[in-house]
Amino acid sequence: MDQRLADDNPRGLYFLADLVNAVQDGSGATPEGLEAVVEAHGGPPLRLTETTGEEIREAVAVIAGILDIKDEDSAAAAINTLLDRYPARPRLVRLPERRWSLHTPPPHDAQPAQWLLSTAALALALWLSERGYCAWGRCAAPGCDRYFTDTGRRAPQRYCSARCGTRVRVAAHRNRSR
Ligand SMILES: [Zn+2]
Repeated sequence: MDQRLADDNPRGLYFLADLVNAVQDGSGATPEGLEAVVEAHGGPPLRLTETTGEEIREAVAVIAGILDIKDEDSAAAAINTLLDRYPARPRLVRLPERRWSLHTPPPHDAQPAQWLLSTAALALALWLSERGYCAWGRCAAPGCDRYFTDTGRRAPQRYCSARCGTRVRVAAHRNRSR
């Protein structure tokens, strides 16, 4: 199992960041690519068509817009708008080998984008209320635009991964010693 999936919280945020990154890097350009990200995070089998896949990508753009917000008041307003438009009806669900956790019910039929947006609204709302600030961001390493979830307890996270952080430090060190 992906180590990050072992942690319940903020699994919803890891899912959203992975989904936004997949659309951004092109691996989410097809219905199959999008379904793979959802299923990798324990989501429902969506069986997307070209049309619903496109709707998912539009929904992902809305989510990316929120992940770009750094001011918590603006983020709260944007998330509240999403909660109004796509009310989440959460239920406690126990996925195999996981603890009980809050989920929004899978789509009944043709509305996967609405499911995604209500899932995102709930996950973002819980995460913002738990952390109290916008604990997410976009990698500051040159040439990397990936979104990440900031789970750190001390300094705000700046890079999507340890690899990007190391790359930047090594480059800075090289410049200093030149
Ligand atoms: Zn990065």
